[in-house]
Amino acid sequence: MPARISFRVSTLLWQSPGRFEELLRYLTDFHDVVDDVAFFTGFTHPPLPLATIRAHAANMKPLLARFREAGFSAGINHLATLGHLDENLENSLRETWQHLVDIDGVVSKSCYCASDSQFLEYLRQAYRALAEAQPEFIWVDDDIRLESHQAGVTLACFCDLCLTDFSASTCKEWTREALREAFQRGPRESRLALRRQWLAHNRRYLARLLAHLRAAVDEVDPRIPLGLMTGETVYSGLGFDAFAQALAGPRSIEVKWRPGGGFYTDEVPSHLLAKAHSTGRQVSLLPPCIRDIQYEHENFPYQRRL
Ligand SMILES: [Zn+2]
Repeated sequence: MPARISFRVSTLLWQSPGRFEELLRYLTDFHDVVDDVAFFTGFTHPPLPLATIRAHAANMKPLLARFREAGFSAGINHLATLGHLDENLENSLRETWQHLVDIDGVVSKSCYCASDSQFLEYLRQAYRALAEAQPEFIWVDDDIRLESHQAGVTLACFCDLCLTDFSASTCKEWTREALREAFQRGPRESRLALRRQWLAHNRRYLARLLAHLRAAVDEVDPRIPLGLMTGETVYSGLGFDAFAQALAGPRSIEVKWRPGGGFYTDEVPSHLLAKAHSTGRQVSLLPPCIRDIQYEHENFPYQRRL
């Protein structure tokens, strides 16, 4: 596949009529080197209320059409599915549904657990709304992971629902305390075997979630491809084959991939090298059917100037 240049478009640009027109004019001037635009659904990282997502999707619909008419491929980048950071909580999804839990029982303020059927129904409705905006693709951002959810819960999910699932798959009743003990003590072989079982559990969790998102989009338009952004999230299991299969769905449609990782400033230039190597390792794990691979170049335009 030839190289493609894609831009992720901040809400601050597409929600302002003046800045939207300016962006469309500017990118049209450079159409020879710009292929895709992906409108972000938010700029803070907890999941949004369903009403907000529906309103954003309805507002995006005619704007996506404008970019399509101008010859671009225009789609959506959904910033927060599970959630990532504890910020802007007052304007974010505020439900008593199951949140992510770490092995010590700490409960995330912003991130939700996909083992909760009510949260899954919310996600179904959210992705249906996005599909109804008629995007040419929908990117699922990299908060689809079980690690690096900051502010308290860095490794998840050890909620009661997830422990019940893990107990069923291992034919043994587990508590958080028993798991923590078994991960850390005992013969090396048994600790390794348990950790491998937990990684397999994490891969199943994420593949199940991605299949759920695919099914939600299929209800509206099964032709819309999904893309997944990843980092080198080893705790999440790196189950790229299963993730790609889930995103392709029963019709085996195209899947996009955006490998990357956090490199937000130039203060430590060697981090760029680390990201380049990490990206290479992620690409090496992709199944050969993934042809649309878009390196994540993070310029973080909303970073405050110091
Ligand atoms: Zn859970």
